[in-house]
Amino acid sequence: MDIERLRRDTPGCAKVAHLNNAGAALPPIPVIEAVSEHFALESTIGGYEAAEQNDAAIRHFYDAVARLVGARADEIAYVENATRAWDMAFYSIPFADGDRILTTTSEYSSNAIAYQQMAAAKGARVDVVPDEAGGTLSLDALEAELAKGDVRLVSLNHVPTQNGLVNPAAEVGRLCREHGVLFLLDACQSVGQLAIDVNEIGCDMLSATGRKYLRGPRGTGFLYVRREILRTLVPPFLDLQAATWKAPDGFELRDDAQRFETWERYVAGQIGLGVAAAYAADLGMADIETRVTGLAARLREELAARPGVAVLDKGARPSGIVTFSVDGHDPAAVKDAARKHGVNINVTNPLSHGYDPDARPAAVRASVHYYNTEEELERLLAALPKE
Ligand SMILES: *Cc1c(COP(=O)(O)O)cnc(C)c1O
Repeated sequence: MDIERLRRDTPGCAKVAHLNNAGAALPPIPVIEAVSEHFALESTIGGYEAAEQNDAAIRHFYDAVARLVGARADEIAYVENATRAWDMAFYSIPFADGDRILTTTSEYSSNAIAYQQMAAAKGARVDVVPDEAGGTLSLDALEAELAKGDVRLVSLNHVPTQNGLVNPAAEVGRLCREHGVLFLLDACQSVGQLAIDVNEIGCDMLSATGRKYLRGPRGTGFLYVRREILRTLVPPFLDLQAATWKAPDGFELRDDAQRFETWERYVAGQIGLGVAAAYAADLGMADIETRVTGLAARLREELAARPGVAVLDKGARPSGIVTFSVDGHDPAAVKDAARKHGVNINVTNPLSHGYDPDARPAAVRASVHYYNTEEELERLLAALPKE
């Protein structure tokens, strides 16, 4: 990868060492221009007229996202963030009394809260599959649970927000297919960071956000739903985009993934997210993944070598998210110290991952992207408080 060129294509790189890509990454110039140009057009000729004029760019979103994740364009919905994308899939599933939902210890709390709500409303049960010794979800334990025959859904994150592991999504997908169980993958932190193919993973539904590793605008996200199950899922909310009214008292659902959308949307964001997806796919997700995981491995190594610093990441396969603690220093103070040196990092919130048995009060989180440099990692290390 031509890192210098990619940095010139990212205006933010001249201002800050941005190691908060799991929070929101810096967008590249083509994304910035696509979003601002469409908003400027709306302001000049009118929003509906601008949408007509940019119809091809709006539709390009479906093709670009489909190409990025190995799906078909009619399996993609544009949704305003990953949470709502995930919700539209999850709340479409007709749970019944006694149905079980299986998840993992690293699960994101918004998802966990939805499981609890569904459990209370429909009598479903939530079970957290235990980890192996290394901290990765145990596939043997998952298989044993699936064999019991009462599992309706396996639902987990691909890359958690609070620790640098990658869950074994493709192995989980294989087990789900063997047992005929639905598989919902929260790929919020993995799309744009790791090479993803929905058919290789074997998930039925996948949700992601625009602003994280994909480098798209905030307030955007998407949902993938496999064609074979799409028509069996009735979204929890319907509007005249999702369905057609058959007067006087009937309606017909769309037969593509746009049944999970609403008519009104952030159009400039949809165009920008399409551009971001094409940008990542053109660069090559395999190269992006190699660069991101390589930089993160280097950062972990250097952190681990420092007295008083503990790297907290778990799991067999590491991601671009690096979590650590600095003895005697509050994570928030470490974040502030880094900010003073022009380095953006973040802290984790234990309430965002309530099932995690090792939940600490909080940790420092540095999340790297391909446009970061070794020099920026050194800047972070230099900014850490001394013992
Ligand atoms: C950020 C995040 C979400 C939520 O994404 P939004 O776009 O903020 O709705 C869901 N799951 C994981 C693992 C996340 O890191």
